[in-house]
Amino acid sequence: MNKLTIFLLLPALLLMLSCATRPKEMVITVTGEISPEQMGTTLEHEHILVDFTRQPDNQPEIYRMEEAVACVLPHLEKLKAYGVKTFVECTPIYVGRDVRLLKRLSEETGLQILTNTGFYGAQNNRFIPEHVLKMTPEMISTFWIAEFEQGIEGTGIRPGFIKIGVDRKPLSDFHAILARAAAIAHKATGLTIMAHTGPAVAAFQQLEILKEEGVSPEAFIWTHASNEKDGLQLVKAARMGAWVSLDKYGWDGALVESCPQILKLMKEEGVLNKVLISHDAGWFDPGQPEQPFKPYTPVFEELIPNLKKQGFTDDDIDLLLVKNPAKAFTVKKRLINQ
Ligand SMILES: [Zn+2]
Repeated sequence: MNKLTIFLLLPALLLMLSCATRPKEMVITVTGEISPEQMGTTLEHEHILVDFTRQPDNQPEIYRMEEAVACVLPHLEKLKAYGVKTFVECTPIYVGRDVRLLKRLSEETGLQILTNTGFYGAQNNRFIPEHVLKMTPEMISTFWIAEFEQGIEGTGIRPGFIKIGVDRKPLSDFHAILARAAAIAHKATGLTIMAHTGPAVAAFQQLEILKEEGVSPEAFIWTHASNEKDGLQLVKAARMGAWVSLDKYGWDGALVESCPQILKLMKEEGVLNKVLISHDAGWFDPGQPEQPFKPYTPVFEELIPNLKKQGFTDDDIDLLLVKNPAKAFTVKKRLINQ
């Protein structure tokens, strides 16, 4: 090979080398890894099973899986008419997370389902075991990192994100520990941090803790952001790089009213590329004889037609339901200054 040939081939060789060394981007579902492009239309915050009466030591035998499948399956099947490909299930451990049930429903419906690792501290820590309340952030993160590396409860099913929950007020000491544990676990795993949060004060406090740990706001989803009444706080978080989740559409009457207005504001401010939408709906409740199921479809039946009337384009809708979730749930370490 003469010098000229090497010179001509060099750019191609360098490109091949960079492709080979670049880590493959992925999203983790209960049935394995997919590429972010495979996510397609996504509901980014829903529930299949929630048990608010559950005791930490008796899950999940207190209900029969067949009953849960019979209840939830028809609701999931309805999503096919709207082209939904991916469903992010946000029930944490000790609140009814059952990854075997999620895998079974994924296999029966063909929907890609994501589950989580993490701890839900909202409702004054009633879903946190006593011994966890005494742990350091490092000890807590060890548990989550182990689920990421080894799978959940011996199933081999891996979490696709970290879910934490904090109360609707300034962070308590323990909720600050949860946020720090999430930052440490993010640095080890690249999993996105979804934080059930109330108004802005706790959202910005969590972003500050992430910053102290060197984690970018890009790794953080401010979940239930519509609990904050000042839309400009949402714009501020989005400008910082955080994901802003409007996720109670369809059953929270106030949000049905305000959601189109908030989205309009986010569009006008040029931050629609940081917004996620979903219903926070469902679910099978093992403690209840009746199942008052909230459907997973009002976003498609009401919100999108409404947005289109207001001048939202197909590209805007694609951003909200396809592009943004694909970026938000990509497993990737997002560190400050990198
Ligand atoms: Zn939820």
